[in-house]
Amino acid sequence: MSVFEVGPFRIPAGELRHDRLTATMSASGQIVGVPVSIMHGAEPGPVLLVTGATHGTEITGTRTLLKLIERIDPARLRGTLISVPVTNPLAFDRATYASPEDGIHMGMPCYWPSDPAGSPTLRIGAQIRKLFDVATHYIDLHNNAEPAVPMSMEFADECSSPEVREVQRAMAEAFGVTPVLMTDPKDGTAERVGSVEGQPAAAASAHGIPGLMVELLDEHGHQGYEAGVRGVLNVMSKLGMLADPVVPQLIERLHGSFTYHGVLTSLESGVLFPVCEPGTVVEQGSVVAHIVGMDGSVVEEVKMPVTGFVWAFLTTAPGGGSFAVPEGHAIGFVAAAGA
Ligand SMILES: [Zn+2]
Repeated sequence: MSVFEVGPFRIPAGELRHDRLTATMSASGQIVGVPVSIMHGAEPGPVLLVTGATHGTEITGTRTLLKLIERIDPARLRGTLISVPVTNPLAFDRATYASPEDGIHMGMPCYWPSDPAGSPTLRIGAQIRKLFDVATHYIDLHNNAEPAVPMSMEFADECSSPEVREVQRAMAEAFGVTPVLMTDPKDGTAERVGSVEGQPAAAASAHGIPGLMVELLDEHGHQGYEAGVRGVLNVMSKLGMLADPVVPQLIERLHGSFTYHGVLTSLESGVLFPVCEPGTVVEQGSVVAHIVGMDGSVVEEVKMPVTGFVWAFLTTAPGGGSFAVPEGHAIGFVAAAGA
């Protein structure tokens, strides 16, 4: 099999290389590089790109990729694995969700269009775009703060063809956490917490690369990244890159179809106390959270707007903040049961 070439990298068949894409330069002249590990299999096959820390505070994907690489023997691999454990080093190094330099987070459009002369984050995106240009499949690993349940996001409407959609579906099933069909709710949710459309996995799917976004858990123990490792290995098996069987996830998934409904909103201010287990289906109208005032009384019972499940409760700032909520705040993500 021939040498795998992308950007400045050349990897012979059956080898693993760790390198960096030079992305931008800091004000004091420090070179900011994106770490990239490429494992080029002994046999030809798909080219799977996996990114972690698209949001700088979400390092479960980073942990996943650092552990994943040691679980795969390049001699057994069909195709090529491109691992980007830190997609946004500007945010990762400062433990921020977005880059402090320009306020851009990489869940926003950074790859299509690619802007190599743009602000620092867009320059990072332009370098990583070179990896997308050789990829046949894509997984973007994120995580929510707990309490949360791992889930994957399918972007059916963005897929460039029925074939891309079919592969995206198969990747979601193989990853093994509960898939949720993502479309922007028509209630202003996108303006508050971001649009589905700009997500890298959605954008990749729109450009012919079946993409899956996964929300893992932030737990520092085994469940967060072990579920990530298992999920990516499962997808690689499903795509024929590994000979191992697809195995069930560590956390039981929900069966049935689920659609993104939008966010739970607190009308009152106070401290958020979740009173339901994320990932458990509850009936419309069930109380899922209390907002507790400073005298200890429950000032609001937050109810499920639909029958479905909450996959995560939200802190006041993405990747930081707390459960001290102001009035009218988005406090959780809801998936509705049924297509
Ligand atoms: Zn994220």
